[in-house]
Amino acid sequence: MAKKVEKINSQNSNGRSSTSEVYELLRQKILEHSIAPATKVNILQLSKELGVSSTPIREALRLLQGDNLLVATSNKGYATTETLDRNGVRDLFELRLLIEPWAARVAASNRLQNPGLDLQEEIKSFNPKSSSIQHEMFGHDTRFHTAILASTENETVIQAFEQAHCHLHLFRMFRDDWDWKTSIAQHKAIARAIANGEPAAAEEAMREHLNSAYSRFISVMPKSAQGRPLTKVGPSKLIRN
Ligand SMILES: [Zn+2]
Repeated sequence: MAKKVEKINSQNSNGRSSTSEVYELLRQKILEHSIAPATKVNILQLSKELGVSSTPIREALRLLQGDNLLVATSNKGYATTETLDRNGVRDLFELRLLIEPWAARVAASNRLQNPGLDLQEEIKSFNPKSSSIQHEMFGHDTRFHTAILASTENETVIQAFEQAHCHLHLFRMFRDDWDWKTSIAQHKAIARAIANGEPAAAEEAMREHLNSAYSRFISVMPKSAQGRPLTKVGPSKLIRN
């Protein structure tokens, strides 16, 4: 997924095919910080740089606003959003901790369409020698977690998760030294428990993975402006006052 497109090549007369290309290209630039967080986007300059008219650019910018990667500014302009602060990361992980351990439990309980084997295939296809471990991890992690949620067949939960754009926002904070080996080992434990039809173990493995990922994200963030800590969510028998 490390392909870089510097200029839009294929255009057709109505500009439709280039909207998705402009969208992909700008999304990549924002995710990789080649357009920095909290920066105004200059439509005319982008139009010149990419060699397309302003129409597909405006359409792509609207899509990026839907992804919460851009916000509208005065004068019908756009600016990139800030990356998450400590409270933003905590909020995302609290949402994930509410949804995903449950989803892993449901997936492990699914005898007819158990996603365990597909999850194990997904892990096998992870390429640690990729030229961009950041992109490789982003693609893999998104597919892995999305597949578990999809297997619940609960459209309301799936939509709530999609609208939070968890992976998109966390990707912006990934660093090249991200401990991907720990993530993959934890994914293996989750996939194994799901494939073996062990709901309690799958739920616990997912909770452990999310708590661990949260700690790793938060450990590299500036210490300032810390809000309340992550609320511990666990099986009721483990909750202590
Ligand atoms: Zn993961």
